[in-house]
Amino acid sequence: MKRPENPNWQLTAREWARRAEQVGQQPLHGGHEEGKGKDKDKREAEAAELSTPRTPRFISRTEWKAEEPEETPNTREFWPEWGGIVIHYTGGGDEMMDKHDWDPRDPWHTCYGQVILIQRKQMHPWPVIGGEDYSDIAYNYLVCRHGYTFVGRGLMVQPGANGSPDPKHPKWNNERYYAICGLLGSENKEPPQAMLDEIKAVADWVRTNDQAGARIEGRHVKGHRELGSSDDCPGSLYPYIGKGYFD
Ligand SMILES: [Zn+2]
Ligand SMILES: [Zn+2]
Repeated sequence: MKRPENPNWQLTAREWARRAEQVGQQPLHGGHEEGKGKDKDKREAEAAELSTPRTPRFISRTEWKAEEPEETPNTREFWPEWGGIVIHYTGGGDEMMDKHDWDPRDPWHTCYGQVILIQRKQMHPWPVIGGEDYSDIAYNYLVCRHGYTFVGRGLMVQPGANGSPDPKHPKWNNERYYAICGLLGSENKEPPQAMLDEIKAVADWVRTNDQAGARIEGRHVKGHRELGSSDDCPGSLYPYIGKGYFD
C-alpha cells in the first residue's frame, strides 16, 4: 500500500496539532511563531479551523508520565483515510474511576494510574497471562469518564489495538484505523455524557488533522467487535456508534 498523494498539504496544521498534544490543553494559537511574518488574521483563521468544533482536553504523555516507546513510532504504515476510527473499551468489570488526578495514597484507583497500568500491561505482559508485547500503549487515545483525553500513540501513528482475526489474511486494521479507548468496563452499562462528548471531540480531531475515513464510502467509525477480533468490545459504547454519535 502506498499513500495516494503527497500528505504535505496540511503540514502546518498537522504540526500545530501534534504540538497541542505534546503540551496538553494549551490553545493551538498560543506561542506559534508569534509575529514572525505570519499575519494575525491568517493565524486566527487557521486556529479557528482547527478548534472546530472543539479541541479535545488533552493530557499529554509528559503529564501522565508515559513510558517511552520501545521502538520508533510507526508513522509510515498508516493510512487512516482508507479506514477511519475504531472505538474500544478496557474490558473487565467496573473500570470507571471515581478519582481523576493521581493520588499517591491510592494511585490505581485514579484515571492517571489506570492509564499508566494499561501501558505497563501492554508493554510488559505478565508471563503467566501472556498476551502481546507491544512497543507502546496500544491505543492512540484514551478517554476517561471525566471528559479528558490521555494521549497514547497520538496523531499519525499506527496503533496496535485493532487486531487482525487471521494473520494469514490481514485486514490492515491497525494500518487503516485510529484506536480510541473509552475507560469503562463491562459492568459500566451507560457511558457518562462527558466521555461521549470527549470521544466525539477526539474523533473530530483525527478527522480534521489526519483525514480519518475521508476516502471510504459509508460508516468510518466502528466498534472493535465489527473487525472480528473481539466479541464484546466496546461494551456500552457500541450502541452509540450505531446511532452515529461520533460521526
Ligand atoms: Zn477493543
Ligand atoms: Zn478521569
